[in-house]
Amino acid sequence: MPCKFCKTKPVITLTNSKINLCRSCFIRYFERKAFKTIRQYKLLGKKDHVVVAISGGKDSLSVLNLLIKLANKKMDIKITALLIDEGIKNYRNKSIENAKKFCKEKSIKLEIASYRDNFGKTLDQMKRKNKDTIACSMCGVFRRSLLNKKARELKATKLATGHNLDDEAQSILMNQLRHNIALSSRLGPITGVKRDPRFIPRIKPFYFLTEKEVATYAFLHNLISDFNECTYCEESYRFEIRDLLNNLEQKHPGTKHAIVASFIDILPLLKNRFKDDEIKSCKQCGEPCSSEICNVCQITQKI
Ligand code: SF4
Ligand code: ZN
Ligand code: ZN
Repeated sequence: MPCKFCKTKPVITLTNSKINLCRSCFIRYFERKAFKTIRQYKLLGKKDHVVVAISGGKDSLSVLNLLIKLANKKMDIKITALLIDEGIKNYRNKSIENAKKFCKEKSIKLEIASYRDNFGKTLDQMKRKNKDTIACSMCGVFRRSLLNKKARELKATKLATGHNLDDEAQSILMNQLRHNIALSSRLGPITGVKRDPRFIPRIKPFYFLTEKEVATYAFLHNLISDFNECTYCEESYRFEIRDLLNNLEQKHPGTKHAIVASFIDILPLLKNRFKDDEIKSCKQCGEPCSSEICNVCQITQKI
């Protein structure tokens, strides 16, 4: 079947609607959908300084590419890229090179912050000393905290990430299965329950775009040099949930969309439920957190 709109050769069949699109119709569809999310959820405003969290992979370089287009065309926003180097041998070094090359080509300032400089050890070193600890459980906490801290130091007004619909469906399901609804209240196209200057709001322009769509967009823009996955990803809970959802999606197309759409319906109720929760300051490092000691300090003590 040719492209639905211009009858030329298609590059993708959209998962839900089964519509075929050619290269240029797909790029138009993709960017319009991301811009609509930005408009509808007020992700960006005039003069925003957007720090884009990039890893050098397809999702984050695609979001950076899209925001650069937006800044060049119609929006008065400033963009800085921020890369977190966890210190994972044979994985992160390759994507750092990819990120550097892309930012240089686009004349975007790139800041790099590493676990070694900020937490004293690389993730590989942490994992070697704590073989029974799941790497992602340390890594996710450190990355979230470091991104927020560095974005704040850079005086960002927004922190953009390349999270897509698949990622969000996984997070929703993981929180549900772990009875962690408070964490879910902080999800959504723009994160946070209430404004606090210590937290930079995170925005997700690809919230309603699938992983397949983002991968296609990245491929069509030559943003993927080679595909490699993190050494530790197979030991993570998210990996299991990803497989589970992919299997469900194959048998019952539309499952991931349904999870995210249902979640968006109840998100205002969740935000309301947790709106009075106090944001404290960690007694050890001073970073904002929900308990006396933040997760970073708790993990650092344990390991
Ligand atoms: Fe970190 Fe886990 Fe992601 Fe690897 S897969 S970068 S360990 S969160
Ligand atoms: Zn077309
Ligand atoms: Zn702390």
